[in-house]
Amino acid sequence: MTNQLFDKVAFIGLGLIGSSLALRIKQQGLAGSTSGFSRRLETRQRIAELGLVDSVVDSIADCVKDADFILVCTPVGTYADLAKELAPHVKAGAILSDVGSVKKSVIDAFRPALPETVHLVPGHPIAGTEHSGPDAGFAELFEDRWCILTPEDGCAPEAVEKVTQLWQACGSMVEIMDAEHHDRVLAITSHLPHIIAYTIVGTATGLEESTQEEVIKYSASGFRDFTRIAASDPVMWRDIFLHNKDAVLEMLQRYSEDLTALQRAIRHGQGDVLEEHFTKTRAIRRSIIDAKQAGQFSPTEASDEDRPDWLSIY
Ligand code: NAP
Repeated sequence: MTNQLFDKVAFIGLGLIGSSLALRIKQQGLAGSTSGFSRRLETRQRIAELGLVDSVVDSIADCVKDADFILVCTPVGTYADLAKELAPHVKAGAILSDVGSVKKSVIDAFRPALPETVHLVPGHPIAGTEHSGPDAGFAELFEDRWCILTPEDGCAPEAVEKVTQLWQACGSMVEIMDAEHHDRVLAITSHLPHIIAYTIVGTATGLEESTQEEVIKYSASGFRDFTRIAASDPVMWRDIFLHNKDAVLEMLQRYSEDLTALQRAIRHGQGDVLEEHFTKTRAIRRSIIDAKQAGQFSPTEASDEDRPDWLSIY
């Protein structure tokens, strides 16, 4: 029995997410053939060396030509230019999807450029590591993780069903959501934790030299976990914050109000307030473990027993 869902899958960008998908699609036989394009020549050469796709091509036009499924796996800030470049070459009836961490801006970038005959089914796998590039990928990345799809109103149900089947074949559970709702949910579950991690690590870097050495020495007391998140790709995260500005600013406002309340409790010695708060947060941790969404490890780092299990929230 054949697992094939598409005749030709075209990948634009094969970093962590794109290469993981390419490996899984190949492993499961989900595509008749695959093509791949990346911006830099050395990356294209590496993709070819790793054998991630059947053909690595030098232009977007060649990559998407005759493809019935196009997967954009680049930072979201590239989308507006990519949309203009690829739109004239996409065949009628093709499905275009992506893996970007922000969803409303994807529709805003692609819809005006694409012909009406192209189905736009944006997606976001809630899976990842802090590693980047084609070498970082592994076929199991999406196993038991959620993938959120945000098709536009009126999108052909067959197109949504096909993309759903693809993600299920990658081991994911699929949820359909409105793009704006997605952006608000991810602002609190992913984007806010990242901006906090970037801030804490930045604050520590700003300390004078002698204290800095101790920050590194005693990092296992909590700081280390933040440094892993703050090691995430700078370009990707720059684009996420710029493209989910309103939701991130709203969550930051709420966060700073809550932080002020805890500050006040510490100042006034209100131990009961602190304890009650920490008890509630501990229960949230318990429910994440119960939902089996607590841990994810790259097989390439199997020996790294220190990996925090709350790292992989994207
Ligand atoms: P990544 O590892 O940095 O890979 C992105 C790849 O895109 C790079 O290899 C880069 O290759 C290529 N690229 C950049 N600009 C390009 C352009 N204009 N045209 C063609 N190729 C281009 O990033 P990633 O982690 O896979 O993330 C990709 C997308 O997935 C992002 O939108 C991100 O928000 C989303 N996402 C990431 C995670 C995560 O954990 N990392 C999780 C879920 C979703 P070159 O060397 O050729 O520039």
